[in-house]
Amino acid sequence: METCALTPFDHAKADIILRSADGVEFRVFTLFLSLASPFFETLFCLPQAPGGAITDQVMKDGLVVVAMSEDSKTLDLFLRFCYPSTLAEDPSLENLTDALPVLAAARKYSLGLIEKKVCQALVNPKVLETEPLRCFAISRNARLKHETITAARYTLRQPLIPAWCSEIDLITASDLLALLTYHKKCITAVQTLWDLNWITNHYRSQSGCKWLFCSGYCRCGRGDDKKFFLWGDGTVTWWIKYMQEVFELLKDSPSGDTVRTAADRTVGVVRAANCTVCSGQVKENIAEFSNLLAQKVEEIVASIELEMDF
Ligand SMILES: [Zn+2]
Repeated sequence: METCALTPFDHAKADIILRSADGVEFRVFTLFLSLASPFFETLFCLPQAPGGAITDQVMKDGLVVVAMSEDSKTLDLFLRFCYPSTLAEDPSLENLTDALPVLAAARKYSLGLIEKKVCQALVNPKVLETEPLRCFAISRNARLKHETITAARYTLRQPLIPAWCSEIDLITASDLLALLTYHKKCITAVQTLWDLNWITNHYRSQSGCKWLFCSGYCRCGRGDDKKFFLWGDGTVTWWIKYMQEVFELLKDSPSGDTVRTAADRTVGVVRAANCTVCSGQVKENIAEFSNLLAQKVEEIVASIELEMDF
């Protein structure tokens, strides 16, 4: 038993019916589809047999019925992309579940613009920040090079061994191995920042970063671990804690985002310590410093290649 699609695909004046694989009938205007895709233009211009209908053509209510291989959900989504925005808004692909079937339909029917919109959804930072592995798997499955590489970069924000997601089955074991190898290489490369020369090179002298050396009425104290000495002097203890925490996290998640998130936690800790010198200015000092470190991490990571053929 066929059911009718939701508005606007139930229009009384529509001139063709597209029937989805699961039996939903979409009453659509051929003009909108022909304008969107040369594939549809050709399909609707097929020579008609005498009597007006294509041979063996199924008819309903005087309209030609075209059997589509897509299910109703996919058909609904990509028809909304084809229709003018005054009749149907472009669907959001933010939940990613529909990205792959819509992409497949867009490719099959030569809907270049829709393919572009799916690609944009896959590199939407809002989606990448929370679900980089899903974006990676979908992009890799669809052989989208730029999107795959971008998603791989975002997976660095997460632990080396990722949490399971259903899209993982879209990629091969070799793809996953390539992703893990890339992640591991980034971890190793970022650890070179333990050599703190980049700090002394950037600030040039202690006067460029006075806050790193507890002075005046600061009660925070300096650490005696030589690893954190700068220009031969010990640095303030809370900064050392921040650095230790960051580098520990970078061993699993080598990303600038890791550095910035740890900075936010440090602000809370230093403020709670109530030091007359550090507490008031910790936010701007650590924000500036963590941006510098995050930038260094991102520069290093940018030089590492995801080894994968496209
Ligand atoms: Zn202090």
